[in-house]
Amino acid sequence: MARKKIIAGNWKMNMTPSQAVALVNELKPLVATEEADVVFCVPAIDIIPAMEAAKGSNIVIGAENMYFEEKGAYTGEIAPEMLTDAGVKYVIIGHSERREYFGESDEDVNKKVLKAFEHGITPIICCGETLAQREQGVTMDFVRMQIKIAFQNVTADQAKTAVIAYEPIWAIGTGKTATTEQAQEVCAGIRACIAEIYDEATAEAIRIQYGGSVNPATAPELFAQPDIDGGLVGGASLKADFGKIVNWK
Ligand code: PEP
Repeated sequence: MARKKIIAGNWKMNMTPSQAVALVNELKPLVATEEADVVFCVPAIDIIPAMEAAKGSNIVIGAENMYFEEKGAYTGEIAPEMLTDAGVKYVIIGHSERREYFGESDEDVNKKVLKAFEHGITPIICCGETLAQREQGVTMDFVRMQIKIAFQNVTADQAKTAVIAYEPIWAIGTGKTATTEQAQEVCAGIRACIAEIYDEATAEAIRIQYGGSVNPATAPELFAQPDIDGGLVGGASLKADFGKIVNWK
């Protein structure tokens, strides 16, 4: 069965609650499509107003992060149940900015992935190499390690529903998109890694996005690749360009 594309926006630390409502209202008619799942991952404080604004549209509101404990003395963190109670279905886990600025390790990512599944939230699991790693020729080794740790103790049935976002760090927010060949090569390698961990059926079911300066010009070729099932989009998800990316065909 063909995998349905999934195109997710990552708003990062942008948009106040009132700006969030305005942006959802602006983009609602532009991102209407049946061809892809459309997810807006927004700051925690924007989740409820964005969800209200998105009612009646195809937009699904997701979160940008979640903690791996149930509740308690973790000042400033967001519990999984806070997300499910608000109706959240997707959460970005292990974005490179969280790894770099907030010290998230592969083990943290794994704990968050397990916790998300426990609560019925689909994780969008981020992985990707630095420019130095690409130049050293260890891209696939590094990404495979990230994937293998992220999926520890995740069942095949859970893995089938997961989303992986391959985001080369050097391409995030830099305007440098990976070439279509580079993106397809790593996404195919990730799928092969999932087949090794689980089986072919799981590898065929899992959705793998490319992320890193995706824009309306690069999206069509990227999304036409056999192992690229959509995109995780930062900067361009905050403007009308997102509508063009979502309707890339
Ligand atoms: C991201 O935030 O995941 C991302 C890919 O950002 P950008 O599209 O701005 O490079």
